[in-house]
Amino acid sequence: MSKIIASSAIRGAYKIVERAEKTLKTCIEKHGRDQKLEFPDTAYYLPIIYSMTGIKVEKLADAEIVIEEAKKLLPPVPSDRVWLPYLGAALDAGIATLWAEEIIEAIKYIDGPSPVEGIWLGAASDVIIRERGIEFVDGTAPGFAACVGACKDNKTAVRIARELQEKNIYVFMSASTDGKSMAEQLAEEGVDLGWDTRLVPFGKDISATVYSLGFAARAAMSFGGVQPGDGRRMLLYNKNRVFAFVLALGEVDEEKYANAAGAISFGFPTIADTPIPEILPRGICTYEHVVSNIPDEEIVSKAIEVRGLKITVDKVDVPVPFGPAFEGERVRKENTYVEFGGNKSEAVELLVMVDPSEVEDGKIEVFGPEVDDVEEGSVLPLGVLVEVAGRKMQQDFEPVMERQIHYFLNYASGVFHMGQRDIPWVRFSKDAVKSGFKIRHIGTILHAKMHSQFGNIMDKVQVKIYTNPEDVSALRRRAREIFRTRDERLGTLTDESVDTFYSCTLCQSFAPNHVCVVSPERSGLCGAYNWLDCKASYEINPTGPNQPIKKGETIDETLGIWRGVNEFVYRASNQTLESFSAYSMIVNPMTSCGCFEVIVAILPMTNGVMAVNREYPGMTPCGMKFSTLAGSVGGGIQTPGFIGVSKFFIGSRKFIRADGGLKRLVWMPKELKEEIRDLLEQRAREIGIPDFVDKIATEEEAETEEEVLEWMQKVGHPALEMEPIM
Ligand code: SF4
Ligand code: ZN
Repeated sequence: MSKIIASSAIRGAYKIVERAEKTLKTCIEKHGRDQKLEFPDTAYYLPIIYSMTGIKVEKLADAEIVIEEAKKLLPPVPSDRVWLPYLGAALDAGIATLWAEEIIEAIKYIDGPSPVEGIWLGAASDVIIRERGIEFVDGTAPGFAACVGACKDNKTAVRIARELQEKNIYVFMSASTDGKSMAEQLAEEGVDLGWDTRLVPFGKDISATVYSLGFAARAAMSFGGVQPGDGRRMLLYNKNRVFAFVLALGEVDEEKYANAAGAISFGFPTIADTPIPEILPRGICTYEHVVSNIPDEEIVSKAIEVRGLKITVDKVDVPVPFGPAFEGERVRKENTYVEFGGNKSEAVELLVMVDPSEVEDGKIEVFGPEVDDVEEGSVLPLGVLVEVAGRKMQQDFEPVMERQIHYFLNYASGVFHMGQRDIPWVRFSKDAVKSGFKIRHIGTILHAKMHSQFGNIMDKVQVKIYTNPEDVSALRRRAREIFRTRDERLGTLTDESVDTFYSCTLCQSFAPNHVCVVSPERSGLCGAYNWLDCKASYEINPTGPNQPIKKGETIDETLGIWRGVNEFVYRASNQTLESFSAYSMIVNPMTSCGCFEVIVAILPMTNGVMAVNREYPGMTPCGMKFSTLAGSVGGGIQTPGFIGVSKFFIGSRKFIRADGGLKRLVWMPKELKEEIRDLLEQRAREIGIPDFVDKIATEEEAETEEEVLEWMQKVGHPALEMEPIM
């Protein structure tokens, strides 16, 4: 450890802890010790403090205890002549810094300045952590770069951001250099900021850097099964699983050193573009701890090398930046050069399997006007026909692959895509068109991505793009016929009609004993993988996370227990689960990793169950918010009385069938009800209670369990007449 760094970091830590202590004191004088202290919408309290000490900071008084602990961690400031042979002292100072910064930031939510202002986003809610966490699980995001300070000019900031985006790395931004921050530089250049574009402005204060590390601490607790208070495991988990690093941009002062020391404890190295003392020997980080004086052009690749990140980017030959990080980018009306569909013109997308003799791989044809033929502000119809062929191709894979068109096209910077099938909506931005992006590039993208993603099941792909009204109408008519046949096929796919289910163990990298069992009538709890997806995924990658499970002998038809499934789950859960029922939330229910779209919980007084979706921020009748419930349902263990499910599973005929089925549902948020209303109404008619959906209470009718019961009595909810649920 360089003595200069050690003493700078320690001095910085003293300053930050002192600042936290003062701020806290003022806040207590104003509001008293019992004043609530929290980050909004999270079950993880102040996450770094919680994960390292187990202390649930809920009031100002709790923060006082933490400050005392932080002070104990502060080592004496070494004089520059004393050489510190090991990192320990500075690391402790780094941890003290992070605790103090969490308190400083949380107090801002009480006394201001509000962390959510202008471009700044402040603390991420649990919804965001889970949504984004899954990208770290499925590998679409390899890690994050905590960018501290500002680049030498706006152009450099944009270049570095784009480079990180193209490598799918999240960009977390905080602090400033000479009064400027990287996020402000990007905003000045008109770059879209936010979680959707992976360019996340946390805050301009140095203390906002703590949100980056807090993200890492929460990932460890929500996906890694790390128990609060087990600081050592939290740090190790991050070192091994989360590929993050700090980019120190511009001058590095003592406070920034102190934050760098905190990051080193997580195994995250610091790469600086200024000449600061280096810490090279290997220790806590995979390679070096601090590497300095790296020119801006090399800083991203240096960081990736130092953190030991493996990045795979497939090159797609289009004249605009391309990658998942551009998926969330919007193209506003004023910036649109040309648009297609979206109620303004006819549009359709169709992927079909054809005979190999009919496909010439890589052939892309455009029938009708190209972008050069139309003026800015034009609207064109659009028909995209993707024809694929291959020995392992099956008709069942068509919808799976077709759905990817949405993602693939959105990956192009300056292209916006929404919807699918016969209701897509596409925009090309002026910038994209100026860079040379053409309609035929839709074909280039689809050809390249279909090969890279589905190369194992298809050999050849060609794309026909129509932009004249007659051809688009004709394709749309043909497609609608095909969509109808597909829907009918899906309707006949039942759990009984197949002898094989599929596993999904994608989330085991975060929840080591969790396994989703995916059947035709029950998709994975994250909502992202249905039975057909898993079947295709197995063909694509036979040793991957989706394995076939032969059902074998039926042990209990009602509960949904099969010998083959039990055996598989036992093995895949590392011998922790012996029995699994697909259709019950009471008897050996399915476990949850943490990615569920919805949590279903028993409301004992009502003889029924409630369902709450991740997006719903309010209190629920069981006395817990979604975020709190999530804390007790996740982690790969069976929790009778609670299950995590996908939204669509609520409308499945197999939804808690053994416990009484849909008739048990007594409460759900209004938004969720409306989202799946068609499906629910269809089921309601089937069970002979056509007006059932309106008997389910929402937050508008009831907030407590008692109120739900009153509502049920008023409308005559069928659960009241059912056998006791427990
Ligand atoms: Fe994770 Fe289950 Fe979704 Fe697979 S299906 S990604 S295991 S939640
Ligand atoms: Zn998961």
